[in-house]
Amino acid sequence: MIKVHAKFVLSAADARQFPAASLPEIAFLGRSNVGKSSVLNSLVGEKIARTSATPGRTRTINFFELRRQGRPEPELRFADLPGYGYARLPREVTAEWPSFIEPYLAQRSALALSIALVDPRAPTQESDRRLLEWLRGAGREYLVVATKSDRLSGNELANALRRLRTDLGTERVLPYSAKTGSGRDELWREIWTAASRRIAAASD
Ligand code: GDP
Repeated sequence: MIKVHAKFVLSAADARQFPAASLPEIAFLGRSNVGKSSVLNSLVGEKIARTSATPGRTRTINFFELRRQGRPEPELRFADLPGYGYARLPREVTAEWPSFIEPYLAQRSALALSIALVDPRAPTQESDRRLLEWLRGAGREYLVVATKSDRLSGNELANALRRLRTDLGTERVLPYSAKTGSGRDELWREIWTAASRRIAAASD
């Protein structure tokens, strides 16, 4: 696998602070504590996102630029979105999000793929289901990734993936383990494919 270097760009607390939409972006979404920071760190192979013991703190979109080893310029950006669903009360998925998150997902021209992280050990979450329904409604490309796959046996994982596909209305759920690196190459393939599609569409 090609080595990738990541550079932190900025934390946006407002749409006016977003970087210019000059590179394809991959958004990472999920409930707090789903393992989002661990996925980001394992993809890049260095600690870019903070794994935290106090979930639900981050209220900003954190942007990172990714450059492949041997290439002079960055080719891709990651957008680390705030975790949702930490509150115990069931609420609309976006109700607790800062107001600029929804417009980001709906309108950001550079957004090539939204990666929705879900925990295969937990029952299907209403907030995850609503997020995916919302992304479909907005016509956005998305991919569901089941985190912490190392914590389930092969059988348990297969059952959980089947349940998630049905409950979330998607044909594909990619298992991932930040701990073992399982699923990493496949997720990178999805990311580069989505990014190339976005570049091709932009130059049409
Ligand atoms: P975030 O709040 O979504 O960013 O979640 P974190 O990345 O901080 O992870 C939450 C907790 O799950 C931490 O205790 C991590 O060590 C643990 N965790 C994350 N990914 C994995 C994984 O792939 N396997 C295992 N076994 N634990 C994980």
